[in-house]
Amino acid sequence: MANYFRSNIDLMPAYTPSEQIQPSAKIIKLNSNENPYPPSPTVMEVLRNFDGESLRRYPNAFAQEFRQAASQALGVPVDWIITGNGSDELLSVVMRACAEPGRKVVYPVPTYVLYSTLTQMQAAESVEIPYSEDYRLPLEELIAVNGSVTFIASPNSPSGHMVPIEDLRKLATHLSGILAIDEAYVDFAEGNALDLTQEFENVISLRTLSKGYSLAGVRLGFAIAHPKLLSALYKVKDSYNVDAIAIAVGAAAMNDQAYKNACIEKIKASRKKLAIELKQLGFRVWNSQTNFLLVQPREGNAEELSQRLKEREILVRYFKQPRLDDKLRITIGTDEQNQVLVETLISLIQ
Ligand SMILES: *Cc1c(COP(=O)(O)O)cnc(C)c1O
Repeated sequence: MANYFRSNIDLMPAYTPSEQIQPSAKIIKLNSNENPYPPSPTVMEVLRNFDGESLRRYPNAFAQEFRQAASQALGVPVDWIITGNGSDELLSVVMRACAEPGRKVVYPVPTYVLYSTLTQMQAAESVEIPYSEDYRLPLEELIAVNGSVTFIASPNSPSGHMVPIEDLRKLATHLSGILAIDEAYVDFAEGNALDLTQEFENVISLRTLSKGYSLAGVRLGFAIAHPKLLSALYKVKDSYNVDAIAIAVGAAAMNDQAYKNACIEKIKASRKKLAIELKQLGFRVWNSQTNFLLVQPREGNAEELSQRLKEREILVRYFKQPRLDDKLRITIGTDEQNQVLVETLISLIQ
């Protein structure tokens, strides 16, 4: 189509989300890092008792009920929290506020592909700095670029590694732009970057209910930062970006930390077990602080292996990208699902 769109949009490749299928008992879905366990029973109760009549009104524009619950759970004041339609929307809000043509957006790669997409949408300049083979943060290079926005996913996807807090602190000290720490997988990790949001007014931590809280379907994310930083983000977010059902359900999930923590403990135990089993099958397995494993088959073709798993109704994630095209990203399922995966892999590679 000629001339309808901005040239940067014409040039952008379309983002390919991981495959989403009709729910079915048979398929084992390990391609989108969803939680294999259902949301908290209190979430189910809120849904059952939800007053449908109330939906004729707009929701609270600041998701007050959810922010109060998050404030309690995290121990930060309510006005340090902003909510979004998934943390994806908050990444987009940060970019709308900070990125424009002539400004730089920088991030180490490989990482979450959305950072590149959002940069192109703003017609800003992306600067991608490769991680070393052992995933040490390229600190000097990131500081030298000094972008308007620096994105660090920690723990990172698809590598699964966590960036040491001291590296993030050094970055925050030296950058004059925003340091956006994407903590989508923080619930599965040892430690977090919350302290940095209290120490630096240019640091924002982005969180989601999609992974740890089993709520990918409601689209709810939040971020923590100094109220001065958030005030600019409030200017560019849609007024009613989080719907009434998400606010109620999200608050219930936040208020049930015990349930979430119990699910996380199960997933971490399964992660350890699956990593051992895959190593025994000859896979190279990267250390993970997330709910997935990055793995490399000893020999043969990762893309073909993902296809053959799919034929057997097991979905895993394959990235046709430099450095990743010989690897698979496998979400941690239940022990039963992981067992089927391992048995299927044995039948495929031996
Ligand atoms: C899943 C994920 C998100 C997005 O989460 P939503 O809240 O579902 O939009 C953001 N960043 C990373 C690195 C993720 O893996």
